[in-house]
Amino acid sequence: TTQAESYEFQVETRQLLQLMINSIYSDKDLFLRELISNASDALDKLRLERFNDDTLDVDTTDLHIRIDLDAEARTLTISDNGIGMSRDEVVNLIGKIANSGTAEFMRQLKEAQKDEAETEELIGRFGVGFYSSFMVADRVTLVTRRAGQAEATRWESAGEATYTLEALDEAPQGTSITLHLKPADPEDRLFDYTEDRKVREIITRYSDFITWPIRMLSAETPKTEDDEEPAPRELETVNSRKALWTRPASEVTDEEYAELYRRISHDWNDPLETIRLNIEGTLQYQALLFLPERATANLFSPDAKHGVQLYVNRVFVMDDCEELVPAYLRFVKGVVDSQDLALNVSREILQQDRQIESMRKRLTKRVLQSVKGLAANEPEKYAKFWGEFGRVVKEGLLQDFANRDAILEICSFETTHDAEKRTSLREYVERMPEGQDKIYFLTGESRVAIENSPYMEAFRAKELEVLLLTDPIDEVWVDGMPEFDGKQFQSVAKGEIDLDEKEEGEREQQKEQFAGLLTWMGEVLTKDVKEVRLSNRLTTSPACVVSDANDATPTLVNLYRAMGQ
Ligand code: ADP
Ligand code: MG
Repeated sequence: TTQAESYEFQVETRQLLQLMINSIYSDKDLFLRELISNASDALDKLRLERFNDDTLDVDTTDLHIRIDLDAEARTLTISDNGIGMSRDEVVNLIGKIANSGTAEFMRQLKEAQKDEAETEELIGRFGVGFYSSFMVADRVTLVTRRAGQAEATRWESAGEATYTLEALDEAPQGTSITLHLKPADPEDRLFDYTEDRKVREIITRYSDFITWPIRMLSAETPKTEDDEEPAPRELETVNSRKALWTRPASEVTDEEYAELYRRISHDWNDPLETIRLNIEGTLQYQALLFLPERATANLFSPDAKHGVQLYVNRVFVMDDCEELVPAYLRFVKGVVDSQDLALNVSREILQQDRQIESMRKRLTKRVLQSVKGLAANEPEKYAKFWGEFGRVVKEGLLQDFANRDAILEICSFETTHDAEKRTSLREYVERMPEGQDKIYFLTGESRVAIENSPYMEAFRAKELEVLLLTDPIDEVWVDGMPEFDGKQFQSVAKGEIDLDEKEEGEREQQKEQFAGLLTWMGEVLTKDVKEVRLSNRLTTSPACVVSDANDATPTLVNLYRAMGQ
């Protein structure tokens, strides 16, 4: 063993370390996610290296991560028996800002200048790799030996201007990082990272799906009254390692899916439908999505959460990832695991990222496709789904023009054709009698209200099917919808509707007969209506008020009124 030598950090690294040390950023738990993910990468790398070169003198029989807590010494040590680092690698990887996410962080930091709040926010959004250990530690010791090499290296820093390097004659294969934790905050037990429960909780949250076992000693058994020896502490694996999306579909049971669903959705029920997606190629990611059985109460509140979590290489990155599924699919729950994104990817980056956009398109198509499949093959499931989420899905008709046809295909509506069962537009069109070229609908507050409307009389008499649109959103999308399957949408309450094949002569005769009455009524009502005309849409009611084809419908007028316009 030689003497430890002292080196200076790069200027940028020093700035970053200062930030970490002084950080009052609240989610300090992130440090463990970062260190575990580094350990996991190191194990992956070793496995790969061994795979490519089986003469390599390394032990790959029991690759794992281990975490040891020492409350008295106030240390947390995380070790792996992975690839390790040579001395040069330590200098280049740990002593400098190596990863692109951190470089990007520093760039944005410069832009944020000295604004403290903004800096805090940046740290939260990035998470800055190895250096985040200085959020919780005032000294960090790293001992590492590159797999296949004899010499080991010891690196240590208090996060200030310098670090020391020392060559060691021997050390176990891989890397061991000891954090000398800052004094515990007596006010806040939550931040004590020597506490077994706290550490397990963080592992479960961020690192549960890591492939490699993360081991910890079992909790100490409390001292008993008699002289009995306490139970010996044993190593146990803390993470479930159940990244179901990485296993072949044939090997995963429904119960396993349901268990994962319940965990990430906080729903007690089983999922209605499970959707798997495995994309290989330039972009690699897997998705495991669930359609819930029931809508949550806050689905329509402005702060409604999205249900998809983003993982990068099995490490949890964020909840509520609205960049991955459009707002009108916000009820979809699940996991998307990317192999191409950086662990410290920020929401801001996600919003501009082309990969993410392509992922969102793909996932959206897949969900719509799966609902279509339900409609075709499992009508009961579909009906349940639509009853819960139809209103949300229809928002897509206003938001997602690229998928408008696909969304229309999976919509279903109440109809005069069948009081018990909703109809799809496809079914409606198939039932259209010869000569009908429009899809008739009427909007209103409820089925009963619509059915009692005088507008319906002639349609009922002629047995023409009318869609009964009772969701407020229907009013909005149907207005801008050009057509379905070449058929225009026609409100029963708007404009002139020509249902009657009355003889031309007969109509002329009627017009003449009522001309006097119509003129008189027109004069009397001149302030209230545009025109009084003879109608053939009524059978029993003597008169009704209709609006022009381009006017707002009565429900819409009410809607606007309610909004104070
Ligand atoms: P990133 O993981 O994004 O590259 P980090 O700051 O977390 O950035 O780590 C910097 C580099 O240090 C890693 O890329 C890796 O090469 C090296 N490193 C960190 N931890 C370990 C480890 N446990 N074993 C081997 N190499 C490591
Ligand atoms: Mg890292």
